[in-house]
Parts: sequence; C-alpha cells; structure tokens
Amino acid sequence: MRGSPPIPRDPQCRFTTVTLLALACLAASALTSSAQVAPPSQTEVELILLGTGYPRPDPQTAGPAAAVVVNGKVFVVDAGRNVTNRLWATDYPLKDIQAVLLTHLHSDHISGLPDLFTTSWIFSRYTPLELYGPAGTENVADAILKMFEVDIPIRRDLTELHAAEGATINPHEIYEDGIVYEDADVRVTAFRVNHEPVKHALGYKFETGQKTIVISGDTRPSENLIKHAHGADILVHEAYLPEHFDRVDSTEVAENLKRYHTSAVEAGEVAAAAGVNVLVLTHLIPAGAEETFIARASKHFTGKIVVGSDLMRF
Ligand SMILES: [Zn+2]
Ligand SMILES: [Zn+2]
Repeated sequence: MRGSPPIPRDPQCRFTTVTLLALACLAASALTSSAQVAPPSQTEVELILLGTGYPRPDPQTAGPAAAVVVNGKVFVVDAGRNVTNRLWATDYPLKDIQAVLLTHLHSDHISGLPDLFTTSWIFSRYTPLELYGPAGTENVADAILKMFEVDIPIRRDLTELHAAEGATINPHEIYEDGIVYEDADVRVTAFRVNHEPVKHALGYKFETGQKTIVISGDTRPSENLIKHAHGADILVHEAYLPEHFDRVDSTEVAENLKRYHTSAVEAGEVAAAAGVNVLVLTHLIPAGAEETFIARASKHFTGKIVVGSDLMRF
C-alpha cells in the first residue's frame, strides 16, 4: 500500500518492462529539455481486469470494472465497488484517466464511480472527468456533483486548492452504435447489447495498432456483440453458472436473471461465433468455480479461455 500519490512519469517511458524501450527512455531523459523526443515506435496496449465480481460483496473481488491502457492513456470501463483501489494498485496515476465508459447504469457497474471521480481529482486529475455511457449518464454525473457539493468547494477553494476543472464531469450520452472516441492511438466503438429489461446497455470495442479488445458489459447472448467482436484478439465477456441462481434465488428470480445474462456455455458459443482469439470470462457468478467455467465455455470454443481475477493483466 502506498502512502503518497504516484509520481507522474514520462508517458514515453511508461512500459519499462520492455528492456530496449527502457534504455531508449533513459537515453531520452538524458537529453536536454529542448531536444525532440521521438514518438513511441509502436502502440503499447494493456488490458487490466480491475474487478471481476457482481453485486454480492466479496473481499477478494471488486465490482465490475476493467482498464484498457493505450500508450499511457487509461480508459476505465465500468466503475464497480472498489475500482479506485484496484486502479491505484496498477501503478497508473489516477490523473491519467482519459475517460470512464459505462456499459449500463446497474448499481454494481457504477457504485464505485463517485469514489473514482473524487479520489482521482484529489490525487491530481486537473481536467474534467470525461464520462461516457448510455441514456441517464448525465443524471448520474449531476447526482455525483450534488453528492459532493459540500466537499468540493472546501477542497477546491479553502484547503487543498485542487484544480477547479478536475471537480467537473463532462457526460457524453451514447444513443446508437458508433465511434465514441478516437485519437492517433485508439478508436473506441460503442455498440448495443441485450440486457433487457435494462433498456440501454452497451459493449465497447478498443481498436489499436497492436490489438483489438472487446468488452461485453452485461448482456444475454448478443448477435450485435458477435458482429462487433468479429476477429477480436480478446473478448472480455460476462458469464454465470445457472445452478448458482437455482441455488440462491426463487425459481422466478432465477429465470429472470438467466434471461438477461450469459451462461458460461453461451459465452463459449459467442466467442466461437465471433472467432476471437482469447475469451476472458468476468462478472463471474459465482466466484471460485474456475474449472467449471472453463469446462462449460470450452464446449463450443476451442481458443484460449481465461477465467478472470482482479488485477489480471493482458
Ligand atoms: Zn452487472
Ligand atoms: Zn447489469
């Protein structure tokens, strides 16, 4: 556990595990400040599972969240319980959050968002939080600002004097499939999935020069997801074991839940239909059943299957 905020690093020098790049970074840092530093020769992409759980509390498992980091820019997909602690553990500075993208507004996917907003501001995010999500995202942003209306003026104007811009949120509501963010390193596409009776639920695709990563959000098996995930390097997909719902819920509730989620067998079918390279299972209902998840998902999918756990990196 660290006692002070992470030290901002030269974005060119972020991936020091690559020896050659590290040497290049050392050389670059030795140059005078007026010297031109060459741009990265290739896109560096990392997927980190920040939370692989669901609404049930679990000390070992945070709520649903993942980070896709592209050349040091951190895109957080969903913000479940404990997302801020998990992101802190990755060593990426909270100020490097480029955007937070919500798949839908179920509580388990947004309950960590107020903490992520305020803590990233307090620990040096000085630009607005760019918040993407379905219809209703503006209301979530307004509610968070209302929640902290006593706190913000004190930290901003009286004590810590944190940057005013960091205490604001720019909401971007998404109503149709399409590109929602694009820069020289990454293109992010949102697409509709089927989580009825949740009306507005999205998946996200990250395309970079190095790899394509698709995150399902919560959904029943979705043809639209299969279309957008076609040929992806990594598909991060939710999965459940039906016997768990049968054990802990009434018959009616269990059937309701099965109707709007994807079983492990179905997740394998989706991955096979999309022709992805790697299937990463998350939003695991329940945790602690890795072998069963693998056995079920591999009925239809012959590629690599990983049962996610918090802070797993790809
Ligand atoms: Zn969920
Ligand atoms: Zn949900």
